[in-house]
Order: sequence, then C-alpha cells, then structure tokens
Amino acid sequence: MSQYDVAIIGSGPGGYVAAIRCAQLGMKTAIIEKYSTLGGTCLNVGCIPSKALLASSHHYEEATKHFEDHGIEIPGDIKVNLEKMIGRKQAVVDQTTGGIDFLMKKNNIDVFTGVGSFKDATHIVIEGEETTTIEAKNTIIATGSKPSSLPFITLDKERIITSTEALKLKEIPKHMIVIGGGVIGLELGQVYRRLGAEVTVIEYMDRIIPGMDGALSKELNKVFKKAKFNMMLSHKVQSVERVGDEVIVKAENKKGEVVEFKGDYCLVSVGRKPYTDGLNAEAAGVKLTDRGQVEVNEHLQTNVSNIYAIGDVVKGAMLAHKAEEEGVFVAETLAGQKPHIDYNLIPGVVYTWPEVAAVGKTEEELKESGVDYKVGQFPFRALGRARAGGDLDGFVKILADKKTDEVLGVHMIGARCADLIAEAVVAMEFRASAEDISRMSHAHPTFAEAVKEAALAATDDRALHV
Ligand code: FAD
Repeated sequence: MSQYDVAIIGSGPGGYVAAIRCAQLGMKTAIIEKYSTLGGTCLNVGCIPSKALLASSHHYEEATKHFEDHGIEIPGDIKVNLEKMIGRKQAVVDQTTGGIDFLMKKNNIDVFTGVGSFKDATHIVIEGEETTTIEAKNTIIATGSKPSSLPFITLDKERIITSTEALKLKEIPKHMIVIGGGVIGLELGQVYRRLGAEVTVIEYMDRIIPGMDGALSKELNKVFKKAKFNMMLSHKVQSVERVGDEVIVKAENKKGEVVEFKGDYCLVSVGRKPYTDGLNAEAAGVKLTDRGQVEVNEHLQTNVSNIYAIGDVVKGAMLAHKAEEEGVFVAETLAGQKPHIDYNLIPGVVYTWPEVAAVGKTEEELKESGVDYKVGQFPFRALGRARAGGDLDGFVKILADKKTDEVLGVHMIGARCADLIAEAVVAMEFRASAEDISRMSHAHPTFAEAVKEAALAATDDRALHV
C-alpha cells in the first residue's frame, strides 16, 4: 500500500495549491480527484469559464455598441457564433486544467483519479477505474461545493439550470430568468444580456450583491437597469415550473402580490452548498456542522487531529483565492510553521462590467459596530483615462477611521476594479492611513488615480479633480 505524508481529497484551487505547497516543503504528497480533469469548480465550471464568456461577450458588446463611437465602422452585420464562443471557452479551460497536470508532475505529486472516501483516519479508499487504498499520515479535505437550489425547484438542467449548464448553452436564450442577484447570477446574466437575451433578475433581498457595501449594490443596479435588465428586487420566488419549452416563475412582491414571469431558460443561482457526498467522513470520525460544512478550528484542523479541511467545504467566503490561502496555510502548519490568514483582507470581486471589488469593512458593518469613520469617494467620470476609454461608470469609496485615519474598507465599482483592489489590499495589509495612499504617486492617466483621489477626499476633502 502506498504511504504518504499528506493526501489531499479534491483538486480545486484549495486542493491543488495545498498539494504544491506540501510538495515544496518536502512532504510526499498525493492528490485525489473524482473527475478526469484537475482544477475543481473554479477551473472547470467556475471562475475561468465564466471569465472566458464574459470576455467574449464583452468584445461582442464593444463591437456592436461602442466601436462606432471610436470611429470604427464594420460593414455588414456582426453576428454571434455561440458554438464557437463556447468552444473557445472550453479550449481556455482545457489549457488551464492541463497546466495543473504539469504542475503536479513538476512537483512530484501523485495524482489519483477516483472518489476518495475515508476507511479510517489514516486510510483512504479511491474508487476509480480500479479501487486503490492509500495510507496518509495527514489528510486535507478540499472537496469544495455544489450549486444549491430552493426546495420546491426541480432542476431539469435543460431549461431550469445552474451555472454549470449556463456555461455551455446551445442557443442564446430569448428570455433568461435569473433567480438570485448574487455574483454568479449577475455575471452569467450579463453574458447572455450582451448576446441579446432579455434578462430578468429576481432577488429576494431589497438589493443585489447583498453583503457588499450598499453603495456598490445601488450603482451596479443602476448600470444594469440602464442596460435594460429587468431588476426585480424584494421578490420572493414561490414556484418554478416548466411547460414545454417555457419556464414559468411566480414570485411574491413586497405588496404581497404574486407576479408571473415567463422565459425560455431559468438560471437558479441562489448560492452554493458544501460538498461531502461519498467522502465517508464519519468513518474517520470527522464532524460536520448543521450546514454540512466540515467543522474546523482556527488552524483549519478538524476534530480528528491529523485531518484538516479548506476552501468551500469549510466556513467563510466561497472564493478561489480564499481556498488557495487556506491550502498554503495548512501545508505550512503541517511543516511546523506558524502561518496566518487575515480573513478581513480577502477581497471580493464581481466580474461584471463595470467590475465591482471590495476589501475590509462595509459602511453598514462600521455603522453597526459603532466605529467612528469618514468616507472619501471619487467618481471615475472625473478621470482623464476613464474619458479616453469611454468607461465612465462607477467610483472608488474609501472608509477610514475618523481618529487614526487608518483605512478600514475600500469599495469600488468601475473599469478594471478587479485589479485595482490589489492596491487597497496591500495598503490595508500594511495598515496604511488614507493620507499614506493620498501621498503616493499614481501614474497618470490611469484608473488607479481614482484610488488616490478617494484617499485625498477621505483626508480633509482634498480631492483634486472634482
Ligand atoms: P472546488 O473548486 O469545488 O474543488 C473541489 C474538488 O473536489 C472538485 O473537483 C470535486 O470533484 C472534488 N471532489 C469532491 N469530493 C471528492 C471526493 N470524495 N473524492 C475526490 N474528489 C472529490 N471564485 C473566485 O474567487 N473568483 C471567481 O471569479 C469565481 N467565479 C465563479 C464562477 C462560477 C460560475 C462558480 C460556480 C464559482 C465561482 N467562484 C469564483 C467560486 C470558486 O469556484 C470556488 O470558491 C472554488 O472553486 C473553491 O475551491 P475548492 O478547492 O474549495 O473546491
């Protein structure tokens, strides 16, 4: 029987990064993945394919709506070839997952294909083409998550679909009804809206992207409405029914009236749930929480001392980079180091256009905890770079401690915010004040100047270009 210092179950961004770091630290490492490709949700049916389709649909929108403003004329009709677009997305996915195969080989990590389940706390049975059992001194559970649904919805995966099916549709929907105004629903809704579908977003809360700073929700809602999305906030979905090729969704509004929506596709994007099916966690004595997560302490250790868990299957934000940080954290813990993760500084990003990104505390959280804070905000439309490119929507908002000026939260919506947020993370990691940011030179003309201007606005209202 093969013996390992560490076995990792699941090859998503949590699992494969943990494997690389364990191998770097000299541990004999095995990774177990039930699917034939490595990379988990993120690489196969999550982050990467969704960004590929967002990029393609963005190009189409630019060509059909904005090229003319720039004096670019394309004779004849511009058409979408959805099959080719989905094919390109798949090629990007294949190349990316192939890259993980390479990294596993390079780091001498043994890859097992099959479902991994515990026999006991140190033995894992892998059921693939053949059944193998391995022995591992330590195990990291990185089994991720799956789309969740509402109890009364039957997902037929043809017309009533999850994000996984939405990434490989064979036609552009005429009317896509998106249940849930969170990150995944909005990103995929925007893909199909750009390609010409009518899109209705039904959200239970009174705002989209709940959990992010309210100002971001408001601005993104405004932009989506301008792009002719039907934004139905404060609507509680009651039923979803398929009749032939039609999907009928009924939802109750704030007044208690039942409103009916008819579409040809319904994307159910109401969140994701931790995934532990087939893991046989009980055989190892590993405890799960009431919500189905693997229970861990502050060292990401389960109640069984040689078994750890990371990523979407444990508490916290369901994000690829959070899973990666946790993978490194556990590997270094196993090597006897004392790593640290500051969960307050894990950024959240929505890859719609404009992009939305945030780190640290929201204004609502600061209010609730009674912290005395100040706000500096700067609109992108006041920037030369934004005007040169024609990307005018959005703003950067910095929240700083009123007394000490320490930056407590940065919230932004606008072009390239997914990348701009890194500056805020660095600043907050080093506990910068708003004044610190405002005194750093930012290249001109760049979108990053909005960060400096918002910092100036937060320190005695000194923004220069408004
Ligand atoms: P996963 O990536 O879910 O990987 C778990 C792996 O474990 C899977 O491959 C699974 O097959 C395998 N597995 C499970 N059980 C077993 C078993 N018993 N034996 C063997 N293998 C097993 N996050 C971002 O940060 N940025 C984004 O832009 C982003 N976009 C997203 C878009 C979509 C449409 C979706 C659905 C998600 C997106 N996410 C994004 C979330 C991100 O994909 C997850 O947070 C991330 O994949 C979690 O990583 P993980 O390693 O915990 O688990």
